[in-house]
Amino acid sequence: MLPVAMGIMRVFVKTYGCSANSADSQVIAGCLLQAGYKLARSEGDAEVVIYNTCAVKAQTENRIIADLKGIAFDKKVIIAGCLPLICYERLRKEVRFDAAVGSAAGPAMADIVKRVSKGETVIELSKFEAAPKLDLPRARSNPVVSIIPVSSGCLGSCTYCCVVSARGHLKSCSIAEIGNLARKDLGRGAKEFWITAQDMGCYGSDLGTSLAKLVRALGEIEGDFKVRVGMMTPNTVRDDIDDILEAFKNERIFKFIHLPVQSGSNKILRQMNRFYSVKDFEKIVQRFRKVFPRITVATDVICGFPGESNEDFENTLSLLERIRPDIVNVSKFFVRPGTAALEMRRRFVDFQETKQRATKVSRLVKKISAENNETWIGWTGEVLVDEKGKVSGSWVGRNFAYKPIAVRSREKLLGEKVQVRVVSAFPTYLAAEIC
Ligand code: SF4
Repeated sequence: MLPVAMGIMRVFVKTYGCSANSADSQVIAGCLLQAGYKLARSEGDAEVVIYNTCAVKAQTENRIIADLKGIAFDKKVIIAGCLPLICYERLRKEVRFDAAVGSAAGPAMADIVKRVSKGETVIELSKFEAAPKLDLPRARSNPVVSIIPVSSGCLGSCTYCCVVSARGHLKSCSIAEIGNLARKDLGRGAKEFWITAQDMGCYGSDLGTSLAKLVRALGEIEGDFKVRVGMMTPNTVRDDIDDILEAFKNERIFKFIHLPVQSGSNKILRQMNRFYSVKDFEKIVQRFRKVFPRITVATDVICGFPGESNEDFENTLSLLERIRPDIVNVSKFFVRPGTAALEMRRRFVDFQETKQRATKVSRLVKKISAENNETWIGWTGEVLVDEKGKVSGSWVGRNFAYKPIAVRSREKLLGEKVQVRVVSAFPTYLAAEIC
């Protein structure tokens, strides 16, 4: 049994990966507080350390393994999230832990902490086969932002992706449940909602509803707030684009889309099992830009997917030059456990070549982002301050296009709306003066 100060166990929760995982961690923290545990601000202050992990990328897996190896021996260690479901054997061989559980373990976590604190080893690797529970206690890390996971799993079978084997098939929450949580969090001071999922585009198709209906319903809730719609897969957006565009017209919806394209080559998109073409992707972006000329476009690109020729790669570069996205998450292909890409070994691209391609893409997208941001200099308007800046006295706000805009003020601005004028631009953010 672990000796604890004053009898209250202190637990530190560390999160890796996507917004959906952050939402899971907030539920873990909320359930632990409800069970009488204390949340530690750092690993050093805790008796029990929970790593809520991500398995999307091999680089993240390696980083998590390195971090786990650094945990002090007097701590109990619980590994939760997608990684135990994807590569349990590697964890078992390489790191020390007292419990390994799957994703969305919130309600069960208090019992797991109790059992490991008594010296038990807990291995519960069952996949979480239900829609996120939105009525569980949550400890939000930012009082302004409420992260709402609207579904778990997806309808995809992308050959490089191991998430689908961790999160399973699509399970959506009802629009009523999501609306209830949004209203509750509005009452608790939230001003910004991140609706998130593995694929927002297919939200509700298992319930006979849709993303467009959800966005419209959220836009009709009374109150002063904004909604950021999370990642959408092009094929699921393509099939409902008119309704989605209509729903996005509500001024409460940030004019921001995250639409991972992954490659500019149709040959590679087919081998990735992505059910859309380069043209489909371009058409969707053009449709959004026609209705919302200053919309922020984010996308993802994988470099070095098996069989990616120089020509395929050049097609990706030219697609980026045509579309000029504001944000591009660039990944180097690494084969993930349990994925169909494992069968493509003979067509793996040389890793040095993959690195060079990723460097080329990163350079290009940085140049494009900087040039796009330059066009915002002189813009005046309102931003919602949703983050404390890295430098003392600085804050980050978001305008209607979810552009990150840094401002300086001695006043506490978190949650405030301020009028600003953009005075300078950088590749990943803008700087402004308060008017
Ligand atoms: S849509 Fe594809 S990439 Fe996204 S979670 Fe599903 S299988 Fe993975």
